[in-house]
Amino acid sequence: MTAHGQGFDGVERRGLMFVLSSPSGAGKTTLSRLLIDHVEGLSLSVSATTRPMRPGEVDGRDYAFVDEATFAAMVQRDDLLEWAFVFDNRYGTPRAPVDAALSSGRDVLFDIDWQGTQQLREKARDDVVSVFILPPSAADLERRLHTRAQDSDDIIRERMARAAHEVSHWAEYDYIVINRNIDEAFAEVQSILKAERLKRERRTGLTDFVRELQRQLET
Ligand code: 5GP
Repeated sequence: MTAHGQGFDGVERRGLMFVLSSPSGAGKTTLSRLLIDHVEGLSLSVSATTRPMRPGEVDGRDYAFVDEATFAAMVQRDDLLEWAFVFDNRYGTPRAPVDAALSSGRDVLFDIDWQGTQQLREKARDDVVSVFILPPSAADLERRLHTRAQDSDDIIRERMARAAHEVSHWAEYDYIVINRNIDEAFAEVQSILKAERLKRERRTGLTDFVRELQRQLET
């Protein structure tokens, strides 16, 4: 899963896999959209899912909405980098767009659950940077689920019940952001990405850069 491309300061670097997870309703989708709209060099991984489309969602933008047979065929062909059952539906990350983005030097953003994060980490530990988004309170999470008005009361109850289980995976993540305020949470997530992009081990062109710098200093 290693790939190299020109970094923003001209030094070649390896693309990274930036994972955001949270219980649904904690603001992860909003944060993902903000990142994609405002951060250069970052592509969103669009997952495939067997769940029905919600009002306002667009096929191919939010998810590739597929039937069970299509999903099973993708698993069979090993087209998915990871996949998992979430809320009785199957969700998975198509491999080809991720490989293409990383090999052109772009980072990839994933909005996936803890099961998918574990699988990515097993496959590419050094390239995965994971962030868990927590809501400030249960009441806040429930209010957000109602405000987005995409799900029935039954589904909201189910999502609240699942939240406790999802939150129990917080310690498997590299970073934790508490989303009290979306602007602050966005600033924090951006800072994480900026710092991770500067990590020495990812900047594969540094040896050449420093060698040239030393040559200049010595002459
Ligand atoms: P939702 O149905 O609310 O869009 O997503 C439900 C959960 O599935 C979210 O926690 C989301 O992060 C997760 N999810 C979305 N796509 C994927 C995927 O490709 N793989 C995995 N493992 N989880 C995903």
